[in-house]
Amino acid sequence: MSRPVLLAVRSLGKSFGGVRAVDDVSFDLQRGELLAMIGPNGAGKSTCFNMINGQLSPDTGHVLLDGKHIGGRRPRDIWKLGVGRTFQVAATYASMTVAENVQMALLSHASGLFDFTRRASTLMRDRALELLELVGLAARADDPCSILAYGDVKTVELAIALSNSPSLLLMDEPTAGMAPRERSELMTLTRRLAQELNIGVLFTEHSMDVVFAHADRVMVLARGSLIADGTPRQIRDDPRVAQVYFGSGRLMEKVRVNNHG
Ligand code: ADP
Ligand code: MG
Repeated sequence: MSRPVLLAVRSLGKSFGGVRAVDDVSFDLQRGELLAMIGPNGAGKSTCFNMINGQLSPDTGHVLLDGKHIGGRRPRDIWKLGVGRTFQVAATYASMTVAENVQMALLSHASGLFDFTRRASTLMRDRALELLELVGLAARADDPCSILAYGDVKTVELAIALSNSPSLLLMDEPTAGMAPRERSELMTLTRRLAQELNIGVLFTEHSMDVVFAHADRVMVLARGSLIADGTPRQIRDDPRVAQVYFGSGRLMEKVRVNNHG
C-alpha cells in the first residue's frame, strides 16, 4: 500500500535576473521519509527550500502540503500549517541555559496562543523540556549554552524546529561546520524522529557519507534542474550523477549505502 503524499512540488521555478535558479522541479515527499537534496553550490537547493518555507514566492509551479496549496504564502502562515525549519542559532544567547533558549524560541512563535491562566514562562518551560527530552538533551537543560559542544547546539536547533509539531521539516545544511561523527549522530537522531513522529524531512548535506548512510531517497539538483531521484543505491550507480555532480565516479566507491535503499 502506498503511503499518502505529504509534500507535492510541481514544476517549481524561480529566476533571479537572467539566472534560472530553479527550473521545473517536481517531486513528492511522504511522512516518515528522509529525503536528501544534493547538488553543487549554486544548484538551487536553498532557493527550492525557500519557496517551500515561504521566504521566496515561486515564479512558476505549485507547492502542496497535504493537498493544500502553500506556494506564495507568508512564512508564518506556512509555519503554522506545520512546516518546521532549522535556523542557525548563531544568535543563541550563550549565557542563557539550553532550556531558556528553547523557551525564547517558543515564546517568539507563540504570540496569541498563550494559556493566560498560567505564567508563560512556566508553560514554555514544560514544552521546552519535552522538546529537549525528544532530542536527548534533557540532562543539559539547565546548562548554559556557552558550554555546549557545537553538535549539541545544532541539536538544540533541531528541538526548536520541532516546536510547532511539524508534519514537514526542512533542514538546509543542518550539519554545516560539524565534525563527521557529529554529522552522523545528528542525522541518526533526525531519522529516528522522522519515523517516531511520522514527519517528512527534506534536507541538504555536503557529506556524501552522511547522505548515503542516512537518506531514504536522494534527489540531485544541477543548475536548477532535477537530474536524478532515487534510492541511495540508485543514485550511487547513476552515471549521469557521477558525471554531472561528482566529475568522476571515484568518490562514490568509498561511500556506504544504508540498508533502507
Ligand atoms: P544552492 O543552495 O544549491 O547552493 P542557491 O539556491 O543558493 O543554490 O542559488 C542558486 C542560484 O541562484 C545561484 O546562481 C545563486 O547565485 C542564485 N541566487 C540565489 N539567491 C539569489 C538572490 N537572492 N538574488 C540573486 N541570485 C540569487
Ligand atoms: Mg544553499
